Amino acid sequence: MLPRKDLFHIPDGVIYLDGNSLGMLPVAAQARAAQVIGEEWGNQLIRAWNSADWMALPKKVGDRIAGLIGAPDGSVATGDTLSIKVYQALAAALEMRPDRKVILSDDGNFPTDLYMAQGLTRLIDKGHVIRTPAAEDVLAAIDDSVAVVMLTHVDYRSGRMHDMQAITRAAHAAGAVMIWDLAHSAGAVPLDLAGSGAEFAVGCTYKYLNGGPGAPAFIYARPDIIDAVAPALSGWMGHDAPFAMDLDYRPAMATERLRVGTPPIIQLSVLDTALDAWDGVTLDEIREASIHLSELFIAEVERRCPTLTLASPRDPLRRGSQVSFAFDEGYAAMQALIALGVIGDFRAPDIMRFGFTPLYLDDDDIRAAAEKIETVIGDELWRDPRYQVRSRVT
Ligand SMILES: *Cc1c(COP(=O)(O)O)cnc(C)c1O
Repeated sequence: MLPRKDLFHIPDGVIYLDGNSLGMLPVAAQARAAQVIGEEWGNQLIRAWNSADWMALPKKVGDRIAGLIGAPDGSVATGDTLSIKVYQALAAALEMRPDRKVILSDDGNFPTDLYMAQGLTRLIDKGHVIRTPAAEDVLAAIDDSVAVVMLTHVDYRSGRMHDMQAITRAAHAAGAVMIWDLAHSAGAVPLDLAGSGAEFAVGCTYKYLNGGPGAPAFIYARPDIIDAVAPALSGWMGHDAPFAMDLDYRPAMATERLRVGTPPIIQLSVLDTALDAWDGVTLDEIREASIHLSELFIAEVERRCPTLTLASPRDPLRRGSQVSFAFDEGYAAMQALIALGVIGDFRAPDIMRFGFTPLYLDDDDIRAAAEKIETVIGDELWRDPRYQVRSRVT
């Protein structure tokens, strides 16, 4: 049954429509954090690598994430940040297609994905180019010069969702490697990653998976290719035998080789407990509820605020679990809305972004949020100079 509000810490007076950016705190995660810090770190100290099984945690959590993204056990490694995982996947993919020089992405991709690609291609210095056509032109841009198609499945600004199966098929038909960034998909929409045949996928866990700020990222590699992947970031935790202390790198079996250094045990423990919120609920149920909530939101906001322009696909089947509206004074309007207790966020230049997380939102939240948006827009609360000052994080 959805929602499962009792599993989350919901501050008084807050309607949270930003779970696509930083998921809410699962109540049980707080106790787990206290236990890991106080008992495991505090009392067991270094013995906890064995006594509390810290060493097994990255794989355990990886397998739980695999279950949420349509991937088999053992195919997902956890750790580091998503930016790092993008770098690893792209480096591996480029090595698989040494004769091709084009990395194909789109102009809606999240900047860090493109920045990591720019840094990597500069370092390897083999004349790679990064192409970023509009999202709707990606399919037509796939040809046999393309080494890698690297896309974010759900657009972080508009929520527009790529057709994973069709694009992966086209990439493979042209002989290219496929990388999917699932930052706004994992925990938001049902995924059949294994069925898509994509070689790599990456994602973060602090958005819909509620792992907390800075929670570790994940990387998937298709099981039949992983043995041929030579990791670009060949750290000791991806070594076949880290505690043999060999002088030479030898990659671990399977996806474990895409780990790099010491795992962030406190964050991994918090994430492990956060994932309990998914027990007994299917992504199909989540998707159905998410479409219901987002359709209700669009109808309510459009009825109350005709000056806002929908900046997401109108067809719910072409959206992830977020809805954006464009408004010239979007930054100030979002600050005014947050002051009224409705938390969404803003993405330059003019996007007011709202995420829908069926684990902890219901219809009453959506109607109440729309009412507050009407107050901000109708009464022009955004004109208050207080709301015009830009913070570092928007
Ligand atoms: C949120 C997000 C990131 C963030 O990367 P970090 O390394 O975790 O800061 C990267 N890519 C996409 C597509 C995102 O949505």
